[in-house]
Amino acid sequence: AARLKTTVFGKEIRYFAEIGSTNNEAKRLAAEGCPEGLIVVAEAQNTGRGRLARGWFSPFGKGIWLSVVLRPSFHPLDAPKCTLMAAVALTKAIHKVTDAPCGIKWPNDILYEGKKLVGILTEMSAEMDAINYVVIGMGINVNIAPDEFPPELRDIATSVAAAAGRPVSRLALLAEVLAELETVYCLAVSQGFDPVLDEWRKLSITLGQQVNVLAPGETFTGIAVNIDNEGALLVDTGQGVRRVLAGDVSIRPP
Ligand code: ADP
Repeated sequence: AARLKTTVFGKEIRYFAEIGSTNNEAKRLAAEGCPEGLIVVAEAQNTGRGRLARGWFSPFGKGIWLSVVLRPSFHPLDAPKCTLMAAVALTKAIHKVTDAPCGIKWPNDILYEGKKLVGILTEMSAEMDAINYVVIGMGINVNIAPDEFPPELRDIATSVAAAAGRPVSRLALLAEVLAELETVYCLAVSQGFDPVLDEWRKLSITLGQQVNVLAPGETFTGIAVNIDNEGALLVDTGQGVRRVLAGDVSIRPP
């Protein structure tokens, strides 16, 4: 904790050698009333999760498997934007430890050479019009060699060390992640999400690209032209602009 640059994030740390899912533990602690800024970190996750109940590969000692508890005052409808906010913070943190070009694939992945470095999973509990807590889960592949990924991930996953061409200190990167996250969160709380979404646009690799949108029961193709002020992706299909919400779809290169 002495090496952290933050005032709130990481003030309380729950560290585990091994855990099912850091998000589940963070949600449990949040429901019990833990303070904002508490983080859960683990060396390994046995049942790490992505979106839509997909698994997240989280080998021992090789990544940053991290969840942060937030208690924001903003409206529950704003909570999904926390994923975009986290993506901004993570990309800036990674840019601090390597010059390797990486950017944000809408809405929740950070890619290097088309492969995932980081996944983000935001979960929330709200009652009526008030947020009880938001948990932002981040899986950062830090020092995973290409051949250490299971075969089914080798074409889609990479690590910060592979991008940097050298091993990367997990502690140094964790300190940068928490610092960037605290900064961008304070910006969102004080000025709203518009400046955060502007930063997202600058760091995005999705905008301007042709994408296949895989929605339940339908697939379509178009150019990702922008995100709107709710963080939804706007896709120009040639027959009009379709608005795509993160909960429903995956996007893929054509
Ligand atoms: P997407 O929305 O891109 O389909 P998710 O955000 O739901 O993906 O993340 C889960 C998926 O990420 C899994 O189905 C798997 O394909 C992939 N995956 C799992 N673990 C890792 C990892 N450590 N690094 C990169 N990709 C992973």
